[in-house]
Amino acid sequence: MSIFRPLSEPEEPSRYQMAGISISCPHCKNQTFYESRVQCNACEPAYDEAEPVIKTATAICCSRCSLILYFTNKPNKIM
Ligand SMILES: [Zn+2]
Repeated sequence: MSIFRPLSEPEEPSRYQMAGISISCPHCKNQTFYESRVQCNACEPAYDEAEPVIKTATAICCSRCSLILYFTNKPNKIM
């Protein structure tokens, strides 16, 4: 079972920018990524079991080496 929920079927990888800076892979220096939304509720305490805290983050996966970077805010896709 995958924790990733792709927005759509994999397509061409895209370039992204966060805080005005182009994102490049810290491992291989590649600049194109695949985007996914991930739920990160596993580490959050739920104050009410009936209403678990569900937060989402944006994960971008390097199209070359597959390293995954997580952002709480959605990075801007560069057209
Ligand atoms: Zn990489």
